Amino acid sequence: MLITITGGKGGTGKTLCAVNIASMFKNHGYNVLLIDGDVENPNTYLLLGGQLEKKVAVPFFKPKISEEKCTKCGLCAENCTTHALLHVNDSYPIPILSLCSGCKLCYKICPDKAIEEDYKVVGWTYKTIVNDITLMLGELKPSEARSAAIVESLLEDLDKIISENSNKYDVIILDTAPGAHCDVELLIKRADLVIPVTEPTKFGKMDLMRIMELIKLLGKDTKVIVNRSTLLGFKQEFLKELEERGIEILGDIPLDNDIVASYCQGIPIMDDKSTYNREGDGYIAFKQIFENLLKWMHNTNKKVK
Ligand code: SF4
Ligand code: SF4
Repeated sequence: MLITITGGKGGTGKTLCAVNIASMFKNHGYNVLLIDGDVENPNTYLLLGGQLEKKVAVPFFKPKISEEKCTKCGLCAENCTTHALLHVNDSYPIPILSLCSGCKLCYKICPDKAIEEDYKVVGWTYKTIVNDITLMLGELKPSEARSAAIVESLLEDLDKIISENSNKYDVIILDTAPGAHCDVELLIKRADLVIPVTEPTKFGKMDLMRIMELIKLLGKDTKVIVNRSTLLGFKQEFLKELEERGIEILGDIPLDNDIVASYCQGIPIMDDKSTYNREGDGYIAFKQIFENLLKWMHNTNKKVK
């Protein structure tokens, strides 16, 4: 089963939910793979108290023009849909790398094989095991804009794992970046269930509606978590409004000191080795969320294996 945890807005607690849901499945004896696809701000390993290991560079194609072979025909520039090749009159085409999508079309269609394959590193992936949870994480190189290339690389690694052994992991949890852009779409497309995390503010509601539109377009099952639900006393009003809009709620998490402490200490509140208060509001809220998740799985016949 594959669960994507997302949110239209940054800072709503997506990663908090991802690591704690992963921890609860792990506590119940399931093999869990957690993939951090928030490649501009990958911090799952910090919340799990782990280290980044097994660093692998993610290469990105860039065209290299051979002036010895190029006849200046201009075919590559004419067909580049992102206008990443500048061809003026009788000049050699000049690549504008900030516009290049790395599609390789120019390389494939050049009649004189005058475009050579060249690559730049746009970021890295990592793989590690923390608290018996396998974590795969992507990191975009500072100043690079091609975040989707890192997410695609993570998904290629996931496909490889599944093709080699589809039963290796019982539950796969994907943690996305905030927003409703293509990186997020790539990770939502894979999900059996999408869990957007929001907060009871006007910004939270507006961004939730944007991500719900994308989830609806992709035809995915969804259930929302409302984090910091007790913020400023709007909880009931906010939950009622979501219900009126036909949005299903998986659960809500109140403001809670143990959750703040778990952030600071890098130990998920729901990890079975943690010493947080089992009667605390945060702990009970996550427990209820997990029970609701198991009910959804039962009702939809979703199996973890
Ligand atoms: S298609 Fe090939 S030969 Fe023609 S301008 Fe481009 S690189 Fe040069
Ligand atoms: S790789 Fe694609 S986007 Fe980049 S220059 Fe070639 S055709 Fe244009």
